[in-house]
Amino acid sequence: MPELPEVETVRRGLQPVLEGSLIERVEARRPDLRFPFPERFAERLGGRRVQSLGRRAKYLTAHMEGGPVLICHLGMSGSFRVEAGEDGLTPGSFHHERSKDAAHDHVVFHVATPDGARSRVVFNDPRRFGFMLLAEEESWREHPMLAGLGVEPTGNTLDGDLIGNLFKGRAAPLKAALLDQKLIAGLGNIYVCEALWRAGLSPRRSAGSIVPGPSKRSVRADRLAEAVREVIADAIAAGGSSLRDYVQADGSLGYFQHSFSAYDREGEACRRPGCEGIITRIVQSGRSTFYCPACQR
Ligand SMILES: [Zn+2]
Repeated sequence: MPELPEVETVRRGLQPVLEGSLIERVEARRPDLRFPFPERFAERLGGRRVQSLGRRAKYLTAHMEGGPVLICHLGMSGSFRVEAGEDGLTPGSFHHERSKDAAHDHVVFHVATPDGARSRVVFNDPRRFGFMLLAEEESWREHPMLAGLGVEPTGNTLDGDLIGNLFKGRAAPLKAALLDQKLIAGLGNIYVCEALWRAGLSPRRSAGSIVPGPSKRSVRADRLAEAVREVIADAIAAGGSSLRDYVQADGSLGYFQHSFSAYDREGEACRRPGCEGIITRIVQSGRSTFYCPACQR
């Protein structure tokens, strides 16, 4: 399942091809992905110019001049491929290898950039858990898929005060609170484990326990907010560098080796200087949590 940094990498990879470009024609090669395509899907996008390409949590949003807004989710295995002449680029496959089997090319956008260069933006999705929806510019944020989403973990919005307000009085484990999309949107299992390791906080303590009484500043919440922002920013930066590698190189993606500090490192030594702990795996709400019991308190 692509996590937020991967989706943001896809957005940044598609931006130069799509923003300002005319969608000349759309081919939807099936009636559905996870959901049926909206009525007259291809017709409503064909002939429109893309004003901007955005992201909300793990949803990509392509805003057409004069509407509508295309809302797209990559699901488990969805990816975009940009084809221009002989060249191809698959932004965002730095973390999971993506299918290039043409049998799973379900949607093709034929686009022309403002300088007249033509390319095809192909959506490939072997498992078809991805989806594409249309909404109006005035109301896309209230779409049922997006309406209940919490704050973005990128940018400066997420700080210790905000986490304090969100987590105050919550008995749920810190890990579960961070995964709750209604509180903070777009955080998945990998980056929650990594953020908790960076902040030195145990995934098992209750979310409310990092928030002190009314007049005290929460050092732990500050630390956690910073760790979340950093972990996401670092991953996005690594994704961006994988894109640059690709452009320079020979067809194979500049293989993104994300060295996690906790995630998927069960039984290995903790990487925090001075810590002699061993990374442990526990199961919380059905998902694996990796953490160091020695330095994450
Ligand atoms: Zn440790």
